[in-house]
Amino acid sequence: MSLIDLRSDTVTRPTAGMLQAMVRAETGDDVYGEDPTVAHLQARLAEELGFEAGLFVPSGTMSNLLGLMAHCERGDEYIVGQQAHTYKYEGGGAAVLGSIQPQPLENQADGSLDLAQVAAAIKPDDFHFARTRLLALENTMQGKVLSLDYLAQASAFCTDHNLGHHLDGARLFNAAVKLGVPAGAISRHFDSVSVCLSKGLGAPVGSVLCGGREFIARANRLRKMVGGGMRQAGLLAAAGLYALDHHVARLADDHAHAQRLAEGLVELGYTVEPVHTNMVYVDMGSRAALLRDAAAAQGVRLTASARLRLVTHLDVDASHIDKVIGVFATFAQQNPWESSN
Ligand SMILES: *Cc1c(COP(=O)(O)O)cnc(C)c1O
Repeated sequence: MSLIDLRSDTVTRPTAGMLQAMVRAETGDDVYGEDPTVAHLQARLAEELGFEAGLFVPSGTMSNLLGLMAHCERGDEYIVGQQAHTYKYEGGGAAVLGSIQPQPLENQADGSLDLAQVAAAIKPDDFHFARTRLLALENTMQGKVLSLDYLAQASAFCTDHNLGHHLDGARLFNAAVKLGVPAGAISRHFDSVSVCLSKGLGAPVGSVLCGGREFIARANRLRKMVGGGMRQAGLLAAAGLYALDHHVARLADDHAHAQRLAEGLVELGYTVEPVHTNMVYVDMGSRAALLRDAAAAQGVRLTASARLRLVTHLDVDASHIDKVIGVFATFAQQNPWESSN
């Protein structure tokens, strides 16, 4: 029985073509700056996103941490969403390792931060306060795409208020494909961008932080400090380059699969949030663990969250979507809404 794993888009395995590219990669010691494949990946992504330089790192968490630390000194502050990965899901790294204070604000329903609320949260220049230095946004945010209009407003806002502007673009390419624009049309509104290669793009490991030359030089120093300097990392960078060549346009398939899955679940009577990219959120309430176990018995891996997130990716095809809808149909029959709530 082939397993269908909808827990995240991080679960993809390298394709045969990607493995070939990895095996053929030219390598060198990247801590000495001598790995040509890493250099190529960094330069390529930086250019595509409109930055002077890029830095290959093991994870999105490290990429965001280095970005925040390269923007902010000890005792500075960044403004961030309550639901943002950089605030909520990275072990408090900016505060723990960077001595950077987060100022979280509620995300709006569309995933954005209200700029009037951001303005109100900026601390006056007074020794009582941390120095507000940076606005950090996320796109896509729980699968939602921030509008280009909003990004332009946020960018102008940061210029007016003398704030840096960082994007956690773990799924930047999902946003770009959804909007039908080059990724650079999104990244140009930021001073720095972190992109994950190991989410929907399907690489096994790696993220790239992009920004100005001096910014990336600071990040490079920090990367060594936190143990992120890798040696013959070209093996991994080759997977990232392959993903950029072969796995960007096809993100549209993941979005179509998510849409189809959502429609199927709505027809069955489930409550489903509107789908923007590759994530479907279903309200499972107290039945989530029951569903997880029932699905596992049929080869479908889910989490047991009440607000259940289903993520489509490279290893999920249209027939899998039909099968998953079938699993939810059986579950609805065997666990009628009335008796279980
Ligand atoms: C996954 C993710 C990250 C972190 O990436 P890791 O490689 O898992 O550390 C950062 N931001 C967002 C929005 C993510 O989804």
